[in-house]
Parts: sequence; structure tokens; C-alpha cells
Amino acid sequence: MRFIDALRLKSKLLFLFILITAGLSFIGIVGTINITSMKQKLDSLYFGSFVTVMELDEILDAYHINLQTNIYMAKNNIINSQQTADVIDQAIKQIDKNWNSYKNQYKSDNELPYVNYATSEIEKSKVYLQKIKQICVDGCDVDKISIETLISEITHIDSIINKLRTYEIDNAQYQRKELLDTYDETKIKLGMILFFVIGGVLVISYIVFKSIQKDQSDLEVATRKLKEVNKKLENASYTDSLTNLHNRRYFNMVFDREVKRAKRAKAHITFMMLDVDFFKQYNDTYGHIEGDKALKSVANVLKSILKRPSDFVFRLGGEEFGVLITDTNAEDSAVLAQKICTEVEANQIPHAKSRSSSYLTISIGVVSCIADEALNEEEIIKQADKKLYEAKESGRNRYVMSDEIIG
Ligand code: GH3
Ligand code: MG
Ligand code: MG
Repeated sequence: MRFIDALRLKSKLLFLFILITAGLSFIGIVGTINITSMKQKLDSLYFGSFVTVMELDEILDAYHINLQTNIYMAKNNIINSQQTADVIDQAIKQIDKNWNSYKNQYKSDNELPYVNYATSEIEKSKVYLQKIKQICVDGCDVDKISIETLISEITHIDSIINKLRTYEIDNAQYQRKELLDTYDETKIKLGMILFFVIGGVLVISYIVFKSIQKDQSDLEVATRKLKEVNKKLENASYTDSLTNLHNRRYFNMVFDREVKRAKRAKAHITFMMLDVDFFKQYNDTYGHIEGDKALKSVANVLKSILKRPSDFVFRLGGEEFGVLITDTNAEDSAVLAQKICTEVEANQIPHAKSRSSSYLTISIGVVSCIADEALNEEEIIKQADKKLYEAKESGRNRYVMSDEIIG
């Protein structure tokens, strides 16, 4: 996915966050819609069928228990006429209340004619009941009430109400089935949506994380390269390009540090100042290019003799070199200085204009001492310079070592 790769880390995470939020919101919306529709179905099942069946049951109770039973009781003189009239009144009220509530609920076109028919039949039964009530109120003989007529009236109403009741129960069962179907559908629908949303989020997350991982490794590679380049640059800035020895900059940095280190350890420290003899004449005789080659070969001699990690060889400028060595005493330092002089001459670089040898030679001023607190860095260089001058003065192609205590 190039589009994701092109995004910055922050945008990638934001994209993922938006995706997850959108996915969860979608699941939430679909879930809410389905739960709302199920609630409506449950409501219509409860109020449309369960409550209506209860109302019809109450009407039946009014006919059977309140009327039929009480009129029997009246005929058998268990209750008096007034009580009977009250019971009839109550029953009519109960019938009215429940029937009005029932018939005012939503009715389909199929139901409506039958409901109207039932209304007229209930009204007729009420007229009949009013008559019975009147007999009771007038104090007439309750024996006049025909029990057969009453039973036939109630049976008639009973069959009508029961038909409606059966219809409502069938309807409730149908609605319950619909509700369960909707529930199953919703479960499958939500399951599938969850599957796709989670799958989608996982796939996109995987792509985003892969892309972040790639960015990370690109960054690591770039950082490593940058470090390498920096190291090279640093090395270059501390290296003399002609001889590949450390340059003056590096000398300035290292000299103080190494002297301080030697002071702390109270160790031997040796500094040599080297200068090529009659080099001006060499350049004049053999040319500048040959002069450079000669400087390289002197550098190689120094490198080949001073190989310890703690040995530092510098090109201090022009045809001047510096050597800094630690943990080597004065005697050994003198041996090393002599070796350098010998090896440079032994290189047999012809130098016709030299007055000290027929080959290129060098002179060295050496300072070697045990570093103590009183040791002065500048004084070491001054002394080495002085001894170099003495070496030049005393005939060149040699070393002169300081025997003064530097402090
Ligand atoms: P001395 O024995 O007293 O040191 O005599 P010298 O001729 O070496 O005297 P000096 O140190 O004054 O001469 C330094 C010469 O080194 C001058 C310059 O031409 C030459 N030189 C300095 N740097 C370079 C360089 O990088 N390449 C070359 N070829 N020559 C250099
Ligand atoms: Mg010089
Ligand atoms: Mg010189």
C-alpha cells in the first residue's frame, strides 16, 4: 500500500485510529438499529398480543364469573337482588373498559369486520344484561330470569371472544417467530460485520505496522550510514592527507589529554620533535613532488617503528613530525629515537645536497620524564624544540635528549 507508506508515522497512527473508530461506530450503528427494531417487535408482541389476550380474558371472566355465577347465586337466594344488580353493573363496566381498550388498538383490515360484529353482539348482550339488572332493581322475582337464555347469550359471546382470543394468540405466535427470526438474523449480521470489520482492521493494522517497521529499519540504516560518514569526517578532520598520520588538530587534542593521563598515573612520558634535514635543498634539487614522496617515506618509517596503540605519531606541519609515547622510560626512548634516525637514513633516499649524509636524514629533539604534578605541557614542547635545535646545531642526523627536569 503505497498510500500508507507515503504517510508520516503520526499520520499512520491517526489513520489506524480513525479506521478503528469508524469500524466500531459502524458496528454500534448497525447494532443499535437492530436492537431498536427488536424492541419494537417485542413491544408489539407484548402490547399487541399479550395485553389484548388479557383484556379478552377479563371480558370472559366478567361474563362467566361475575354474571353467570352471581346470577346463579341470586336464583338460589345466596345473594339478594340489590347485590345482583351491583354485580351486573360492575360486570358491564369491566366489559366496557376492556372491550373499548381492545377495539381501539390497531386492527388490520381482516380483523375489522369481525371486531365490529363482536361490538354489536356485546352491545346486544349488554341490553340483555341491563334488562336483568332492571328486574333486580325493580325487586321482581329473579326466577323470571331464564337461565337457558343467559347461558345461550354467554355461550354466544364466549364463542365470539374466544375466536378473537385464538386469533390474537396465533398472531402472537407468528410475531414471536418473527422476533426470533430477526434475532437470529441480527446475530448473523452482526457476526459477519464484526468479522469483516475486525478482519479489515487487522489487515490494515498489519500493513501500517509493516510500514512503520520499514520506516524504522530505513531510519536505522540511515543513522548507521550517518554515523559512518561522521566517523569518516571526524577521522578526515584529524588526519593528514599526505602521510595519513594524525594532524596538528589531533595533536592539540591528544597532547594535553595524554600528559594529564600520565600525570595521574605518574607514568613515563616521551615527546619527540622531528625535522627533516636540509629539506629545503632536497625540494630545490628533486622538486616538490619528490619532496612529498620523501615525507611519506619518513612517515612510513615512523609508523613501522611506533606500532603500540599508545604510540602517537603526528605531522605537525611542513617537514616537522611529533611523536608521543607513554610508559617507555628515557633509556628505551633514546633507543627508539636512535632507531628512527637510523631507519630513515637506511631508507637510502638520495640527498646530494645534504651535508650530514648522502641520504635523507632527520634530527630529533627528545624529552622523556616521569610525569608529576609539576610537569608543564608547554615546557615539554619548548624543551623538545630546543633539543631539536641542538641536534641540528651539533651536525644533524641525530637525536638530542633533554636531561633537565621539566616543571
Ligand atoms: P634544516 O635541516 O635546518 O631543517 O633545514 P631545512 O632546509 O629543512 O630548513 P627548513 O626546516 O626551514 O625548511 C623547510 C622546508 O620544507 C621548506 C619547504 O620547502 C619544505 N616543505 C615544507 N612543507 C612541505 C611539504 O608539504 N612538501 C614538500 N615537498 N616540502 C615541504
Ligand atoms: Mg623545519
Ligand atoms: Mg628541516
